Amino acid sequence: MTKIALRLTVALLTLPLLAPTFTQAATPAKDVPPKNMIDPQRLSDITRTLSSDEFEGRAPGTAGETKTIAYLVEQFKAAGLEPAGSGGSYTQVVPLVRTQVPADASMSVTVAGKRRPLVQQQDMAALALRPVDRVQIADAALVFVGYGVSAPERGWDDYKDIDLRGKVAVYLVNDPDFEASTADDAYGKFGGKAATYYARWTYKYEEAARRGAIAALIVHETEAAAYGWKTAIAPNGEGYDIVRADPTKERLLLQSWLHRDAAVELFRGAGLDFEALKQSARSKAFRPVELKNTTFAADFPLAHTRIDSHNVIGRITGQKHPRESIMIGAHWDAYGNGEPDANGLRFRSGALDDAIGIAGTLEIARAFKQGPRPDRTVVFSAWTAEERNLLGSEYYASHPWLPLETTVANFTMDVLQPNGLARDIVLVGAGQNELESLLAQKAAGQSRVVTPDAKPERGLAFRADHFSFAKRGVPALVLMGLGGGHDLVKGGREAGDRWVSDFTAQCYHQACDRWSESWDLSGAAQDATLVYEMASQLANSRAWPQWNPDTEFKAARDSSAAQRK
Ligand SMILES: [Zn+2]
Repeated sequence: MTKIALRLTVALLTLPLLAPTFTQAATPAKDVPPKNMIDPQRLSDITRTLSSDEFEGRAPGTAGETKTIAYLVEQFKAAGLEPAGSGGSYTQVVPLVRTQVPADASMSVTVAGKRRPLVQQQDMAALALRPVDRVQIADAALVFVGYGVSAPERGWDDYKDIDLRGKVAVYLVNDPDFEASTADDAYGKFGGKAATYYARWTYKYEEAARRGAIAALIVHETEAAAYGWKTAIAPNGEGYDIVRADPTKERLLLQSWLHRDAAVELFRGAGLDFEALKQSARSKAFRPVELKNTTFAADFPLAHTRIDSHNVIGRITGQKHPRESIMIGAHWDAYGNGEPDANGLRFRSGALDDAIGIAGTLEIARAFKQGPRPDRTVVFSAWTAEERNLLGSEYYASHPWLPLETTVANFTMDVLQPNGLARDIVLVGAGQNELESLLAQKAAGQSRVVTPDAKPERGLAFRADHFSFAKRGVPALVLMGLGGGHDLVKGGREAGDRWVSDFTAQCYHQACDRWSESWDLSGAAQDATLVYEMASQLANSRAWPQWNPDTEFKAARDSSAAQRK
């Protein structure tokens, strides 16, 4: 998405005059949920239950998971959903592997015969996701690959003809236009400050693995990463992945953030200047640079264990087009048991992140069951291991119950705001696909407007379960209550922004993300109603929403166009 395209989209989304007429004409009666169907009180009750201590913080592979899955299966049944898990059940086993890089892992670079240790947590924030007993890399060559972007749709290729097999790829974080000025080729080619998929560390590691690299290091810079060094370090060196048929094809032996200071020193040793390299990486003509007289080594034992976790999946089979589906979901997992916080709370129970998204999913399921059976199938999902890098949805997307080629759209709710009615709905990742205009239409029906995420450089659009579908080409949209401050009926944008910054600073992923009596979930109920209305309209139409031109995932969708008629 270009900067210009983004501005145009914003202008369209926020045009208040157009929207209402458009909605009345386009909304069939089938979309309107029975009155009070999405009930704030029920949202509150379900969230309160799931985030209570009884569920022990809902960490995958724990007793808390067992209780959570039993509760969700019961709720899916009570809502009248048909099972869509494995073997006629409501669950899909998600085999996970947990690995642990020791704090004293031996890693180093050798420059012109001189060895310099790289200390875990200080110079490196390393993870190893292949389930091997020992990570051993001896004398591997290092290659600086700039931003490591291969984007044919933007006419950009940082790799040229480099062979990365058996080598260590060194990356810059973010994408080529993050720091670009008008003089650079990259200027405006990657959404300006807004992060594209190419900006994400996950993309870079996966691309390195596809190219046969043995390891990859991403130079950590706080602004470009959108978070500090401490945040980049995984607690206890713990990594999670799904169990893969051939992990060597999809995962590196070692992946790590490299502290900027260590990177500058490493490049200097190889006779290179970090800032000059960065500058060169903003040019289309950039070519990978091999670090002369420099090698990388690692040698340490790796603890790895297997965990069987579960997605919970139900459906309402469409009466006319059962193979075509609309997906609605949220993640059930949170952070489990930990050290007590200042108030002695141990369980990090994720009430807003994302028990409330599960509550919304259940309420929407109930709304669908109250109305006539939709023409297309609607699939409801409660994902595991979102907090471990979207693994539950990733697993489902590679083992789907209905083909993704004929999955019309994925709607995800990840945090809904508890501060009452809002005059707007915040959209992260604006400018991607036609679901955004559908959202604007339905929001107008609630006398609300769409407000794009104020800080798209955080890349929030890549950090929820909808993304597991988007990257495979399924048009997707996420409602994310932390995407930005809502314009609240009580207190306006100022109160909305204050809530987001307070919650993010104090309670996000912490024990104080708890249910509260003082919540007003009328706004959250309206948000869930938007999802219901969008899903219902699509489920009773022949529409196939499209990706916008020049977006990352358009090509993936277009390649299966023949299957959608
Ligand atoms: Zn979440």
